[in-house]
Amino acid sequence: MSSPASGPISARPISARSTSAGPRSARPASARAAAVTSLLLALLLSGCSGSSGGGKGSAPASPAPRTDTAASPSASSARESAPDAAAYRRWGLDKPLAVPPAPPSAKLTDGLKPGAAPKVIRHVPTNEKVVFLTFDDGAEKDPEFVKMTRDLKLPFTMFLTDDIARAGTGYGYFEQLRGEGNRNTINNHTLSHPNLRTLSADAQRREICGQQDVLEKRYGGKPPLFRPPYGNYNDATLAAAGGCGVKALLLWEVTMQINDMRYAQGDKLRPGDIVLAHFRGPSELKGATMTKMVANMLRSIERQGFTVARLEDYV
Ligand SMILES: [Zn+2]
Repeated sequence: MSSPASGPISARPISARSTSAGPRSARPASARAAAVTSLLLALLLSGCSGSSGGGKGSAPASPAPRTDTAASPSASSARESAPDAAAYRRWGLDKPLAVPPAPPSAKLTDGLKPGAAPKVIRHVPTNEKVVFLTFDDGAEKDPEFVKMTRDLKLPFTMFLTDDIARAGTGYGYFEQLRGEGNRNTINNHTLSHPNLRTLSADAQRREICGQQDVLEKRYGGKPPLFRPPYGNYNDATLAAAGGCGVKALLLWEVTMQINDMRYAQGDKLRPGDIVLAHFRGPSELKGATMTKMVANMLRSIERQGFTVARLEDYV
């Protein structure tokens, strides 16, 4: 089912170009958010390393009420109903992940002109102890994972490859993962998972824009986020993606493993890490199920004092 080399578990971004590694914007962390989070420890996802982030310092934590702009209609619902401790225990976790801080008032893609090259983001600039979960490809379609994410009200972002996602029970599965208010978005990971750097500009456009069209027809609206297979891209990729509505090209610095996570830099999570995971099951995970693997990852996130936030609220 999956694509050629996506060495899933170990896939690491090849940084084709480095985006400006601006120092993460240091803004006085809000004491308020800290107070809130100190109650529950945190949790979830990812960690990475990194650099970049797209540059312009975004403003991390303004505790202001979420301004729901068109892009994040569901943000509030994601925060309103917190999962209970019993739900976490059902999935083998000791306690709930901390409620994430209020999202920043500005997003990394704010002000990007239509058709402009997308922002390349491998790390989200923030001082908050939050990480972002992303799931790629779409091979494994485990009904238990649907139950788990509903029970835990887990925020995460999907990047689907057409020929992988449509196999088996198909795209309908991923619809069930969108959560309350379609909090979890479904984004572009090409039609057939090629190494884009080996393709002509036209071929890249077909792969990227073709999947924009597929997802737009199925879910309404062109997805704003794109992840190139293997993390490989070049200038033609950016031009093609920008031309068909992509606002940000998402990379990562942390990858989910069967029992924990692997970090591109250092040996632990850092604020704003983007975690790469895949829809994979027992055949690719040495017998482990997707829910077991995700539970292991959440446990590690929590143990490191982090929680999981919604990527679309920041990007
Ligand atoms: Zn992939």
